[in-house]
Amino acid sequence: MPRQKTLKMQAPLIAADVESSRLEIVVADITSLSVDAIVNAANVTLLGGGGVDGAIHRAGGPQLLGECKTLGGCETGSAKITRGYRLSALNVIHAVGPVWHGGARNEDDLLASCYRTALALARERKLRSVAFPAISTGVYGFPADRAARIAVGTVLSEIRAQPRGIERVIFCCFSDESADHHAVAFWECGLA
Ligand code: ADP
Repeated sequence: MPRQKTLKMQAPLIAADVESSRLEIVVADITSLSVDAIVNAANVTLLGGGGVDGAIHRAGGPQLLGECKTLGGCETGSAKITRGYRLSALNVIHAVGPVWHGGARNEDDLLASCYRTALALARERKLRSVAFPAISTGVYGFPADRAARIAVGTVLSEIRAQPRGIERVIFCCFSDESADHHAVAFWECGLA
């Protein structure tokens, strides 16, 4: 049996079952979640930054940065995995979202690719619960409604394409507004 942590968090605002997985929307600080992996909205250096990246590194401690230093950075649209160190989460999947430039620089595909790569890494490691922040919607300026549609749509099609393995995907929103965007995306995808 793979090592797994029990989820301890507030009840989700919305939950939907897809195949053998549960997709949830919660409003929380992602560093507080006890899951197999939290996803970080990192930058190409993987050496920490502001926003959720800063919060994850503060909570994970210096060993997290130490492991990140060994990874040689990461391309936009891709992701790399480390252990979680002082975090409640067992692992951190560092995904590099695109900076929003108006939509003509392949931003949608690059954002979808972050979610796909993160889920592929989770599957490879046999992780069962993964929590995503709203990648690229902070400093990187991606429109939050558009990003939520991409996040939910991509996760949904990945779960449908490979229905076994990941049991729980959490969209960890940092504001009610962000949760509303994800709720609309659930509804548009027929999940709510
Ligand atoms: P990016 O550079 O990819 O835009 P940011 O960290 O600036 O990354 O923002 C990404 C999203 O993460 C934003 O919606 C922001 O509100 C959210 N966020 C910031 N801190 C946290 C946190 N501790 N837990 C969950 N989400 C967070």
